[in-house]
Amino acid sequence: MVERQLNEECAVVGIFNHDEASKLAYFSLHSMQHRGQEACGIASADGGKVHMIKDRGLVSQVFNDDKLKTLSGKAAIGHNRYSTAGEESTLDAQPVFARYDLGEMAIVHNGNLTNAQEIRDALIKKGAIFQTFMDTENLIHLIAKSDEDKLLDRIIDGVKKIQGAYSLVFLSRQKMFAMRDPHGLRPLSLGRVGDGYIVSSETCAFDLIGAEFIRDVKPGELLIFEKGKAPQSIQIFEPTPKHCVFEYVYFARPDSDVFEKNVYAMRKNMGAELAKIEPVEADMVVPVPDGGIPAALGYSQASGIPFEMGIMRNHYIGRTFIEPTQEMRDLKVKMKLSPIMSLIKGKKLIVIDDSIVRGTTSKRIVRMLKEAGALEVHMRISSPPTTDPCYYGVDTPDKENLLAANMSNKEMCEFMGADSLAYLTQDALMRSVDSKNSEYCTACFTGDYLF
Ligand code: AMP
Ligand code: SF4
Repeated sequence: MVERQLNEECAVVGIFNHDEASKLAYFSLHSMQHRGQEACGIASADGGKVHMIKDRGLVSQVFNDDKLKTLSGKAAIGHNRYSTAGEESTLDAQPVFARYDLGEMAIVHNGNLTNAQEIRDALIKKGAIFQTFMDTENLIHLIAKSDEDKLLDRIIDGVKKIQGAYSLVFLSRQKMFAMRDPHGLRPLSLGRVGDGYIVSSETCAFDLIGAEFIRDVKPGELLIFEKGKAPQSIQIFEPTPKHCVFEYVYFARPDSDVFEKNVYAMRKNMGAELAKIEPVEADMVVPVPDGGIPAALGYSQASGIPFEMGIMRNHYIGRTFIEPTQEMRDLKVKMKLSPIMSLIKGKKLIVIDDSIVRGTTSKRIVRMLKEAGALEVHMRISSPPTTDPCYYGVDTPDKENLLAANMSNKEMCEFMGADSLAYLTQDALMRSVDSKNSEYCTACFTGDYLF
C-alpha cells in the first residue's frame, strides 16, 4: 500500500474574470474553513504577474484588506490546508508557486497522489530539488520539465503521469485551469459569478458570494478559462466515477451540494436508515454536535422518538482530531462538549454520531452522559465501521489506531461503556446516498481500494 502524503483534505477555489477575484477567493475559503484550519493561501494573476500570500492560520487571521489589495488582478486561486501530525511549515501551505521557462504558475490541490513517491524519486534522480513534502510539488516539476511548448499541453502531460485523488486549480499569468481526477474522488463544482466563473470544492462558497451553480467539473475533465471566452472543456480521461462517500458522512458542510446532491439530505437519509435497521427503545435522540445533527434528525423523524440537543458544543475550540497526542485529544473533547444535565437525567438516550475513528469522542461522551445521570446510552453511528485508512485525501490514522479495525462490536461497546452500539450497514449507506445513480468510493469502510 502507498505511503500517505501530507497534502490531505483541504479546500480549493478558483475565480476567473472578476474585478474582486482575490476578495471572492477569500470569502470562498472562509466558507470552507471546515475543510482545513492549519494554513491557507491565495494567488492572484493580473495578466503580467502572479502574486501570492500564504501562511499558517485561519483565513481571517492570515488575510486582511491591505493584504488582499496586493493580490491584484481578475483571477485568483485559493487553498485551505488541513493539519496532519508532524512536519508542518509555511512551506507546506498552498498555493504552490513556481517561476519556470513559460513564466509564472501557481497550483492548489485537494486530494492525495498515490504515486507521488515514485515520481519524486525519479525526479530527484534527475537532479530536481524539492522544497516541501507536498505531493503537489511533483506536478510543478512535471509541468516545468515537460517537452511540450504550451502550458495547456504541459498540464495534460503532467496529469497523465500522476495517479490518485486530485481536484486541482492552476493559475498562470493569463489563464486558469481546473482538473478533476478520473474517479472524481474529491468534489469540484463550476459556477458563474458576475461575468466570470468560480470553481470550488463546495457549493457553500457559491451561496456566500452569490455565484450560480452550473455543474460539477466532470471526473477526468480539464476546464480552461481564458479572457473573453466561455470555459473550454477537454475530457482528458474516460470518467470512472468513484466519489468519496465520506464527504457525505462527515467532511462537507451540510448546506453544500457535493457530487450534485445536498449533504444535509444525505445525512438525514443515513439517520432514517439507521432508525430502520437499528431501532431501540428510548426517551430521546441526541446528536453529537455538530456532525451528528442531521442524522439524528433523520433518526428521530423515522422512529418518532423526540430529538433533543442534549449535548452542547463550545464552538471556540477547533477540531479535536487535529491534535497529534492522545492527551491533547482527550482534553479537547472535554473542553468541547458538555451535557444539559436537567434534560438527560434519568433518561434513556440514543446518541448519534457520524463516525468513530479512534473512539476517543464516543468513550468520553458516554462517560460524560452517564456521569450526568443518563439511565441508558445507546450509541448509533450513521456510517459503517471505519476499518481502513484513506489514501485519497482524508486524514485517517493508520489501521492499528482505528477502533473498529481492532475490536469486535461487543469489545467497542464495552470500551466506551455504552449500553449498546450499532452502525449503519454498507447497503444502508448506499441506499442513503442513492448509489443507483452514482458510484462511490467506500474503501475506508470496506478496504476495497481503487489503486
Ligand atoms: P474519534 O474520537 O477518534 O473516534 O473521532 C470521531 C470523531 O471525529 C467523530 O465525532 C467524527 O465526527 C470526527 N471525525 C471523523 N473523521 C474525521 C476526520 N477525518 N477528521 C476529523 N474529524 C473526524
Ligand atoms: Fe473517501 Fe473513505 Fe474513499 Fe477516502 S477511502 S476517498 S475517505 S470513501
